[in-house]
Amino acid sequence: SIDVRGVGKKFGDFVALDDVSVSIPTGQLTALLGPSGGGKSTLLRIIAGLETADTGTVSIEGRDATSLPAQKRNVGFVFQHYAAFKHLSVRKNVAFGLEIRKTPKDEVRRRVDELLALVHLTQFADRKPAQLSGGQRQRMALARALAVQPSVLLLDEPFGALDAKVRKELRDWLRRLHDEIPVTTVFVTHDQEEALEVADEIVVINEGRVEQVGSPDDLYDTPANPFVMGFLGPVT
Ligand code: ATP
Ligand code: MG
Repeated sequence: SIDVRGVGKKFGDFVALDDVSVSIPTGQLTALLGPSGGGKSTLLRIIAGLETADTGTVSIEGRDATSLPAQKRNVGFVFQHYAAFKHLSVRKNVAFGLEIRKTPKDEVRRRVDELLALVHLTQFADRKPAQLSGGQRQRMALARALAVQPSVLLLDEPFGALDAKVRKELRDWLRRLHDEIPVTTVFVTHDQEEALEVADEIVVINEGRVEQVGSPDDLYDTPANPFVMGFLGPVT
């Protein structure tokens, strides 16, 4: 589980997050949804330990993580523009986290084979990232993030740079992957349809505040305020 309590963050005088509290149960696929500039990435980066909050606390799996650096939080993340090691093969990219942890070679091979099969990249194992499509590259990024068996997976618009058709394929695939390996996942998006279709629960964030937390049906049927209603309203 992830517990965010009273998190505030300013950049200069600008309030990016204002007293944000959210609880994300273990195994849930949660979308952080909101308009551009609302504070989604800032909140995700604070959960990841890539940014420090001015106030408040973050716990991961019941352990206070507020002052832990990212490497000690056991989180995996994937960003919109994924930074792969260009000179390494897909296999080596996925193996990276295991190798720096000095995992035995045969175990690395077994786990990487499993992960490549899971993200449907087995036949591309020996290619370089530049020889993959955008969607394949993001699947590689997910395999790499999952390799070290993180307790939490954080995805910041991982499919944002891809075209609509590939986005939809990956979204459906992420849902199936999550059903197979139910890692606690937080998925940032500004796309209402993406959140409604993929998430177990949606946290709506706007101007640094949580507007509503609920299942897709809750939000759609009973929006808490005019903002949520307008933002989720009939997709045209
Ligand atoms: P988007 O959907 O466009 O990615 P977001 O919801 O992820 O938006 P954030 O990136 O969290 O939004 O930014 C929230 C606000 O904080 C924005 O107004 C942004 O300009 C500001 N901000 C974010 N990072 C910094 C920074 N390092 N310095 C100054 N301001 C920042
Ligand atoms: Mg963002």
